[in-house]
Amino acid sequence: MTRDSTDPRSQMRIEYMGSISGLGMYSAATREGLEARLLDAREQILDKAARILREEPAREQAAVDEALAQGNDLLINSKSDGSRRVVHRVTCPSVVGRLDRHATWTAMVEEYRQWVQSSEDPEFRVAVMIADHGQSPVPVELSTKDKVQRSGRPRRKCRSCAPDVDELAARSTRDDPKQIMARSLNERHVGGRVTRDGTDLGEVVGVGIAVVTADGVHVLSHDEKIAVTYPNS
Ligand SMILES: [Zn+2]
Repeated sequence: MTRDSTDPRSQMRIEYMGSISGLGMYSAATREGLEARLLDAREQILDKAARILREEPAREQAAVDEALAQGNDLLINSKSDGSRRVVHRVTCPSVVGRLDRHATWTAMVEEYRQWVQSSEDPEFRVAVMIADHGQSPVPVELSTKDKVQRSGRPRRKCRSCAPDVDELAARSTRDDPKQIMARSLNERHVGGRVTRDGTDLGEVVGVGIAVVTADGVHVLSHDEKIAVTYPNS
């Protein structure tokens, strides 16, 4: 199956194979069969993208409207990894546009179109981006002053809209005690403090071994003599 690499159909095929899993198993397929499957796959992706555009903005808009109706009047803007959280009022000009999910999606799709305008099959390339993503890349996290204050997550507030919340600096990792496996706790930790998932469990007054049996949880001290059998012995 040789094809001129300038043939646009060859280019299209490479794009399809990058986007659709399962097409690697085509070696036995005839060229016609393969092309039919590729065209079929193209249709499926166009359909999927159309469905996402039909449903997702409306679904997101309903969620935003409900959150606003419930009194969430702050918008938290964070990087995609959840770090660098900045709190805005929902009326802040720098974020208010995001509350309109239809406009946000329209702008996003327009941006996709700009990126791919010179490609062989822009319509399909845009559909792939939408279908791969499946949800808005500009999500909206709405909250209230109460929830923000209670969360304990580091945040700063927007300098421009200055919402009424306290800022919380990220703790330097140098201030955090070293993380160890619980089984490594020993008598030398007595008098120190133990923290799990950021929650202070208190001062260590003793260290033992918790054994879970069918009768319950038993705490044994490290220097206790016990007898134990292996299963089936
Ligand atoms: Zn702001």
